[in-house]
Amino acid sequence: MAVKALSVQQPWAHLITIGAKDIENRSRRTTYRGPIAIHASLRADRDARVPTEQGRAALRTAGDLAFGAIIAVAQLTDSHQCPGKRTCSPWAVPGMWHWRLSEIRALPEPIACTGALGLWTIPPGVQAALADQLGDAEAEAPGDGPDDGAGDGPADPLRSVYAERAALIAYLAGQHPAVIVENDLSAPDMALIYLDTPAGQLSWHLHPHDLHLFDHVARVTAPAGPVWDGHSTDEKYRRLRRLVNGSAGSARHDRPSSPGGP
Ligand SMILES: [Zn+2]
Repeated sequence: MAVKALSVQQPWAHLITIGAKDIENRSRRTTYRGPIAIHASLRADRDARVPTEQGRAALRTAGDLAFGAIIAVAQLTDSHQCPGKRTCSPWAVPGMWHWRLSEIRALPEPIACTGALGLWTIPPGVQAALADQLGDAEAEAPGDGPDDGAGDGPADPLRSVYAERAALIAYLAGQHPAVIVENDLSAPDMALIYLDTPAGQLSWHLHPHDLHLFDHVARVTAPAGPVWDGHSTDEKYRRLRRLVNGSAGSARHDRPSSPGGP
């Protein structure tokens, strides 16, 4: 299934992602209804005037915003113009087409990709990364399609790659303190595994079919359990790299130059 996306400048993309901004203002209408990915553009809207105190407060504590990445998914449920100056939402601009967004789900990890004008279709590689974070069942069969209880079917060539990845994460989880968090709001169908390593937190989504590989890892139900420290996918692999190089943890600036040191 082709997944549509909309590129939105920051800070608006962030305000959509946290559920504050429910209307995206566009000069054109759209007849599309359904799932939509929210992509934060590379360029920021430097003249942004945030219309609500809630939104302004959220931005004060937001930290670094993502640019050039898909950061959330939502449902596009309506596209209309409000008559007159009174609008349907404090976020709606009179005279513009109001694209209503609901069922916002922030992605745990932004997915870097190039945006485009108007509604655009996510390329297959990015779609796979999105499916990885959302759970295959939803990405492939939105709505009331047959559930995946009986198995994924033969169609998904990435399934075996996920299974291999899961086996390696299961090994890592035996080397470092690890917890699996189930029913996370951002991805209710996917469990999240958090590893606490000397290089920092690492996290991955786990496909339900791979959970049997993780019997050695404690499980909790959200909101219990570790909290994502905000690391991006890039940062995660930098941390992994540091673990590989042995430069994380007790070794500070001075790494022992010869083996057998203290
Ligand atoms: Zn409106």
